[in-house]
Amino acid sequence: MSNHLYDLLAGGFPADRSRPCFLLGDGSAISYGDLEAGAGRVAARLIAEGVRPGDRVALQAEKSPEVIMVYLGVLKAGAVFLPLNSAYTAAEVDYFLANAEPAVFITDPTAWVRDAAVHAPLERAVPRAAEDLASLIYTSGTTGRSKGAMLSHGNLAANALALHAAWGFTPDDVLLHALPVFHVHGLFVALHCALLSGCPMIWLPKFTDAEVLAGLETATVMMGVPTFYTRLLANPDFTRARAAGVRVFISGSAPLLPSTFVEFEERTGQRILERYGMSEAVIITTNPLDGERIAGSVGYPLPGVELRIGGGEDTGVIQIRGPSVFGGYWRMPEKTAEEFTADGFFITGDVGRQDPDGRVWISGRAKDLIISGGYNVYPKEVELVIDEMPGVIESAVIGAPHPDFGEGVVAVVIGEGDEAAIIAEARRQLAAYKTPKRVVFVDDLPRNTMGKVQKNLLRERYAGVFAT
Ligand code: AMP
Repeated sequence: MSNHLYDLLAGGFPADRSRPCFLLGDGSAISYGDLEAGAGRVAARLIAEGVRPGDRVALQAEKSPEVIMVYLGVLKAGAVFLPLNSAYTAAEVDYFLANAEPAVFITDPTAWVRDAAVHAPLERAVPRAAEDLASLIYTSGTTGRSKGAMLSHGNLAANALALHAAWGFTPDDVLLHALPVFHVHGLFVALHCALLSGCPMIWLPKFTDAEVLAGLETATVMMGVPTFYTRLLANPDFTRARAAGVRVFISGSAPLLPSTFVEFEERTGQRILERYGMSEAVIITTNPLDGERIAGSVGYPLPGVELRIGGGEDTGVIQIRGPSVFGGYWRMPEKTAEEFTADGFFITGDVGRQDPDGRVWISGRAKDLIISGGYNVYPKEVELVIDEMPGVIESAVIGAPHPDFGEGVVAVVIGEGDEAAIIAEARRQLAAYKTPKRVVFVDDLPRNTMGKVQKNLLRERYAGVFAT
């Protein structure tokens, strides 16, 4: 029996292990051989310290190659990797540690890997089956306590193989990696594609214009959240020539504004490839590598993913079933039962629709749905109308308690304009119940580290706008 995920990933490493894996900002590199040896030593140390298969190993640290040595070492030892957002406070971390009960908690991976050097690298990975747990990812829940999504070796292996094929990775690729590695996007989506193809990564601790622009000189693939692309577009040094060596720019974790998609194509001649995923299933749909990428659509379900729209209408909550869909929430059987249908589909909480040919469009989270005067208002529909108006850069539409309608539509707008003019133009294009009753102007929208607009914060902030 093999170790399902570790052996799969290591099987992608280049035969010549001296080839680079991490290309660092100071011009140095860490080879695949170094990564393999580091992971092997971490695995040996974990086992020597008594870590058993299935034990959790938590890590909270800034991004570094050593974090990945720890991640792979944990997998190799048969344990379960639990990454924690480096921005979490001590009180937040206490909750995760109490909930997950890890055997080891690592906060200084560089020292941890260094001190593991006294151990000979573990040769053979501890056997694990497809259904065994590989990682526990706490969702960035905005209501209630965050939940630990249990991802198995089989879940992660299936998704890694599907993405590697869908996006056409080869050993000749160079992946620009500027994402955090405590989240599925940077840790699984990006990293696994690179490891499976044995290609190097330009390894940036975080997104900075200068480093990303420099990296684009040699990168062939870039993965990012939408804010990476808006930041690039805001920089005049980001030119068609600068983007020319990149064969695909991939975006996800939050909706890509159609205006960003269009402006990016105008600037570079390339269309951003948007995909859709979540901690509970890694990647679910993707626009095609060869084939039409359309602004505002997240593309087609990956091979093996069954996707349907619940509720019997054209637009409803997306449900999914397939090899990468997680097994449930850690120690929350009731919550898990609530979020799966009787026939085993996971209820994603994202509202969307699907064209007859399978193409998927997302209109937002179910919990962001506004019910005004008994009618459903999908914020995205209103945002798309407002975003087209002169002077508007971006909008976020929310519901606020309203004495007559239950909720009233409020548009929070980045840009310049006139409240009455925006309302009048929106009314021209939309039914009265969808038309914002208030428009407020802001300099910026609150976002989390993955670039998602935090509508829960906006709802709190504007809860009183219709107070009488
Ligand atoms: P997380 O578990 O933190 O990765 O968040 C997953 C959520 O991000 C999904 O349920 C969606 O609401 C959102 N999301 C991810 N990718 C996209 C996308 N391309 N378009 C719209 N929403 C997205």
